[in-house]
Amino acid sequence: MAILVYAESHDGQYKKAAFEAVSYAKSIADKVGDTVTAVAINAAESSDLLYKYGANKVLKVSSDALKSFSPNAYAKVLAELKDGDTIVLPSTNDAATIAPLLALKTNATLVTNLISAPTNVSPFTADRKAFSGKGIETIEVTDGAKVLTVLQNAFGLKENAVSGTEEAANVSVSDADAKVKVIKVEQNSSDKIDLKEAEIVVSAGRGMKGPENWGMIEEMANILGAATACSKPVADIHWRPHEEHVGQTGKAISPKLYIAVGISGAIQHLAGVNSSKTIVVINSDAEAPFFKSADYGIVGDAFEIVPKLNAELKKFKG
Ligand SMILES: Cc1cc2nc3c(=O)[nH]c(=O)nc-3n(C[C@H](O)[C@H](O)[C@H](O)COP(=O)(O)OP(=O)(O)OC[C@H]3O[C@@H](n4cnc5c(N)ncnc54)[C@H](O)[C@@H]3O)c2cc1C
Repeated sequence: MAILVYAESHDGQYKKAAFEAVSYAKSIADKVGDTVTAVAINAAESSDLLYKYGANKVLKVSSDALKSFSPNAYAKVLAELKDGDTIVLPSTNDAATIAPLLALKTNATLVTNLISAPTNVSPFTADRKAFSGKGIETIEVTDGAKVLTVLQNAFGLKENAVSGTEEAANVSVSDADAKVKVIKVEQNSSDKIDLKEAEIVVSAGRGMKGPENWGMIEEMANILGAATACSKPVADIHWRPHEEHVGQTGKAISPKLYIAVGISGAIQHLAGVNSSKTIVVINSDAEAPFFKSADYGIVGDAFEIVPKLNAELKKFKG
């Protein structure tokens, strides 16, 4: 018996979320005395990276039917390779669509957005992000089989190297299992850091006055190696692309550091960002609601503060 974990990759390279999921699976395996088996679909990268975080076995799956992402086909593969009662996935956009299908196929309980290692394994007891990030829920799975998703940047990466083995897995999957076919892909920002995976996010809102003023936000993101994000109205009026919109109706993120510039901190915005570990708010209005959720706040004009901060950050980075 093994804890199965989906090691998600993109263009053959493992995502950081895959290593976080393996780390999480290992935390369960250590408690129950099981091993960890990672399933890698279309991954070209060495399995050493998965062993580093605790995968005892890596099952490499490649099939023409899996070349394009399909939640149905990927769920079928994971259900077929299951060897125990627990399957762990990241909470990336793709994995979040596989998880419910997989739970149905394996007659398992689905628990999403886990943020900490289980405090107990029988019954399985752990904390998950709830109420759009405004709260933490402690759940108990009272029935055996479970499909778990792990929130990015929450449990984190835990190195726990084992000497693993790799095998090619044969799975019975065909084009008919995909049920949906990707005909064309248009990538908007291939060179940008993935917002959901980013450890640092620099975000800005309507306080920036116009799209022409985003240079200083991008500069800060570049200095810090951060992703950029924005509030909903900014995306709605096309100052920034919709893929950057965070909040209740946008992406939910939980970076280690979230810097919000000229964003009021409306409840719908907070819903997507308030599980960030540290929040820094820059706003000219001392009464802006965002300050209530901030770990650090600067009251002042972003057009004065951000260039000064960028200059200091550059000096600091040396
Ligand atoms: C159903 C629903 C869903 C929604 N979903 C989302 C969502 O997912 N994400 C989201 O973001 N919003 C969402 N909203 C919108 C949300 O309610 C707010 O209207 C929005 O977040 C406000 O965006 P903002 O803070 O950029 O703009 P504003 O509210 O206009 O705030 C701009 C801020 O910039 C400050 N400012 C102005 N000039 C400067 C300056 N020179 N320097 C520094 N600060 C300055 C102001 O003091 C102000 O606090 C949703 C709303 C609804 C009804």
